[in-house]
Amino acid sequence: MSLKIFINGKLLDKDDAKISVYDHGLLYGDGVFEGMRCYNGRVFKHREHLDRLWMSARAICLEIPMTKEQMAHAVEKTLAVNSVVDGYIRLVVTRGAGTLGLNPDKTSDPQVIIIADAIELYPDELYVKGLSIVTAATIRNHPAALSPRIKSLNYLNNILAKIECIRTGHDEAIMLNHKGEVAECTGDNIFLIKAGKLYTPPLDAGILEGITRNVVLDLAREAGIKVFEIPLTRHDVLTADEVFLTGSAAEVAPVSEVDHRAIGNGRPGPITLDLKDRFHKYVRGE
Ligand code: PMP
Repeated sequence: MSLKIFINGKLLDKDDAKISVYDHGLLYGDGVFEGMRCYNGRVFKHREHLDRLWMSARAICLEIPMTKEQMAHAVEKTLAVNSVVDGYIRLVVTRGAGTLGLNPDKTSDPQVIIIADAIELYPDELYVKGLSIVTAATIRNHPAALSPRIKSLNYLNNILAKIECIRTGHDEAIMLNHKGEVAECTGDNIFLIKAGKLYTPPLDAGILEGITRNVVLDLAREAGIKVFEIPLTRHDVLTADEVFLTGSAAEVAPVSEVDHRAIGNGRPGPITLDLKDRFHKYVRGE
């Protein structure tokens, strides 16, 4: 059976799920999106993802043509029709079809798309040995140009950094901000552990406020770990005892090498593994 895609209230076969080539989502990356997980048939942090989608839309003056409740219902319907119990959900809202000019006022009908599919994680072995990552030469978008807080369809900034790590055979790329501080990775937030304390860049470092990031911060506090959201430099990363990444798709992913240097003893560290375990238990409601 072909995958069914939700577009504007209709569930269409994947091959028939199409939008206009005049859609400004395609022409200009004008739109917003979310990536969510479903565990044991429940959408993880559904409300938080919808809140972030609506915040992103508001930031780009895009009105989503349904309520959060209607969107949540549409997500549940898309999961059910595709029998997805454990998987990944992509929500996309485009500006809609317009003219060839930039003017968003000349577009009509924002397109609401929901895709529920299998999840593509890093291969299992990477969670055992840890990711090898590099610092990209491409810095994160300047927050005054395009705020990284907006999860927009324009991901070229991240894609350029991703190309750098792929071309050099690495798993992810650290992106610095315009001040030279560590911001985040191309699709994940970054955390360090030093002397038993947990550090992650603050929101004003120019990062996406990851929903996994926020859960991990809470889980760490619950575990009695001191947590600091403070500016971090590449030096802090290279001299950390442990490094890990968080994201809806990646969950908690240990990092064993940064810029060709081993982190700690070159294997995933004990606090990382403990938080990864706590996260897995949390998402499955144990
Ligand atoms: N940073 C960026 C740039 C991202 O695209 C993502 C999501 N893929 C994250 C961080 C992690 O966010 P979340 O935990 O909400 O998935």
